Amino acid sequence: MMKAAAGIDIGSTTAKCVILRDGELLGKSLNPVGVNIVRDAEEALRLALVDARLDRSEVAFVTGTGYGRFKIAFGQLTVTEISCHARGAHFLFPRTRLVIDIGGQDTKAIRVNERGEVADFAMNDKCAAGTGRFLDVCAGALGYDVAEIGPLSLEARHPVKVTSTCTVFAESEVTSHVSRGKDPKDILAGLHASIANRSLSLLQRVGIEPEVTFTGGVSRNEGMVRALSGRLHMPINVSPLSQYMGAIGAALAGADRLRGGTAS
Ligand code: ADP
Repeated sequence: MMKAAAGIDIGSTTAKCVILRDGELLGKSLNPVGVNIVRDAEEALRLALVDARLDRSEVAFVTGTGYGRFKIAFGQLTVTEISCHARGAHFLFPRTRLVIDIGGQDTKAIRVNERGEVADFAMNDKCAAGTGRFLDVCAGALGYDVAEIGPLSLEARHPVKVTSTCTVFAESEVTSHVSRGKDPKDILAGLHASIANRSLSLLQRVGIEPEVTFTGGVSRNEGMVRALSGRLHMPINVSPLSQYMGAIGAALAGADRLRGGTAS
């Protein structure tokens, strides 16, 4: 039997780890990233091993990805998160030609070929506009948890137009809508529409082609899935594992090495 391979994705907000064997998911974990990335990476692997009920010795290869990948001292390989999201999305949805990854602090549009390799990509600029952070801040300004805002946005009756793209200005725009008596659901719908618009222009930079797969933590937000799919005028692929897509791609790259092939 093949040995297991682990993929660890250290993002700006969360650490994700998956353990795969023969293309089967044995375990996964998700934990927040703090100041000690080395320890967070170890914790991610430890939790995934517990979930998989495996001993550390049963994992033959560890691949790191994400912005903190170089801090994973115990890994054998590092791969960019762009390649990993492409690979992971292709693994779960083989017809994927475009990936939209919205994470805690960045958004990426990745064009993928039929083999799951990166054909082109575009990223948001340095600021947090259009990322999970934007939604986190606006959710906080309205007194909600980020997990609540997507479903609430779907109940909007008269969505407001949110004009600020900057996170700081959007927060004060939210506050001013609240003080003018706007329904928080309508404000949330406006915020989701604004992110969908920004994502659309990023996707247009690499070329829109179905199938589109949504990855990263923000893909857990049902309101965002609907807003994006509406702007694209097409359905988009989302999986309960979408937040783990980078980690899955990393584990697959490691599995290639275990088979003696080359990791992408
Ligand atoms: P990174 O890899 O950059 O650390 P993730 O891809 O893990 O980030 O995404 C984190 C973002 O996902 C958070 O900022 C938050 O906005 C969003 N998110 C996480 N969980 C949920 C949830 N249950 N519902 C809605 N949004 C979520």
